[in-house]
Amino acid sequence: IGMEKPSELPKAEPEPDLPSEPPTQPAPTDSAVHTAQDTDSTHFPLPVFPKLEIKRNAVTDDYKISSQVLGFGINGKVLECTNKKTGEKCALKILYDSPKARQEVELHWRVSGGPYIVGILSLYENMHQGKKCLLIIMECMQGGELFSRIQARGDQAFTEREGSEIMRDIGTAIEFLHNMNIAHRDIKPENLLYTHQKSNGTLKLTDFGFAKETTLHNLLQTPCYTPYYVAPEVLGPEKYDKSCDMWSLGVIMYILLCGFPPFYSNTGQAISPGMKRRIRMGQYEFPKPEWAEVSEEAKQLIHQLLKTDPNDRMTITQFMNHPWINVSVCVCVCAYTVHAFTVHAYYINVYNRVCVLSLQQSMVVPSTPLHTTRVLTEDRAMWDDVKEEMTSALATMRVDYDQVKIKDLDTSSNPLLNKRRKKAAAGGKLGGSV
Ligand code: ADP
Repeated sequence: IGMEKPSELPKAEPEPDLPSEPPTQPAPTDSAVHTAQDTDSTHFPLPVFPKLEIKRNAVTDDYKISSQVLGFGINGKVLECTNKKTGEKCALKILYDSPKARQEVELHWRVSGGPYIVGILSLYENMHQGKKCLLIIMECMQGGELFSRIQARGDQAFTEREGSEIMRDIGTAIEFLHNMNIAHRDIKPENLLYTHQKSNGTLKLTDFGFAKETTLHNLLQTPCYTPYYVAPEVLGPEKYDKSCDMWSLGVIMYILLCGFPPFYSNTGQAISPGMKRRIRMGQYEFPKPEWAEVSEEAKQLIHQLLKTDPNDRMTITQFMNHPWINVSVCVCVCAYTVHAFTVHAYYINVYNRVCVLSLQQSMVVPSTPLHTTRVLTEDRAMWDDVKEEMTSALATMRVDYDQVKIKDLDTSSNPLLNKRRKKAAAGGKLGGSV
């Protein structure tokens, strides 16, 4: 009975005025939930975000910066540092100040402390070599990347059930983000890191450099492609941004279960025209021997995630309820509306205001030993290419999906629409509901 508690829970009483505290979750406050209930139960409560706290004193006052590089990214190095007071090891990411960097900091801060998401400990704004920089102090993820860990297992086979558990963890992070109306848009192997090397290390998602708010005001953007057959409020651009994350889930799940990616570039280019076409056409297979023993449920789930049309792709809610992932289906009997429950389920659970009945509807995912560790080890030399290919495919997808903007039906003069207008004028219905 009940929902699983996320790994890190928001504080019930946020203390936004404590300067050195990590950000607390933007949990709906009591008043926010009450507002929703008292005024209009058909609307979500407006989220209350923790205020962005950027310190202006030198980061070196509080942290000893090491020359140890934890990783390289497109924006430079991530360095190890130590909290001078507590001795805690942390990670420092430095960004040159820009609207894009501010967006990364703002969105990462907002979701920091959410389940399976790398936490921000503090933020600084300092001058470095004459330029204004934003410095993000994060928890140090000492356990390395997801696939390095699976590759390092040696003889101990990685199993389908373990794959399911990992996918549930990543899904929980994405569910949290999507419920907060944030799409990550860069979910890939190097952004999934373990807290520490011990077997009980927790996998967490990082790098919010391409994260985007997906609220409906995006509809006001310049039109260039119009799916005329569906009303804008049904198909907003936010749907495309989120579906990018679902595609990533599909690719990661595929690699987890066999050790190689579903789409290859045959030419050695990061993303060849052929690979782009194969992604568009959904051309991938489940070859033997690697996929011979893998359950049909897992393959079916991958099919739902790698659907070429983002409209057909599974949503995060559907993913989390899939039998291969799902622990339980919850029926909620609560003081609040069911609407509020779907968005803020775990807060409400934490606050103990609800009774949650759980109907077990999961399958027992088999502990089938997989070929993943062997393939990752044999193809080690190709791993950098695999990562590069996924990076390029996501970049292409972000651009492609950004082209999909909603045209205003009233001002559009598309020939097909004009034809429909004439037809409608002759007797049928027309308008936003075509
Ligand atoms: P970029 O946005 O420039 O790509 P990332 O945030 O992805 O930078 O970080 C680059 C690399 O640094 C990651 O792939 C990872 O190896 C390492 N890294 C990032 N954050 C942490 C962290 N909190 N702890 C340890 N290593 C990290």
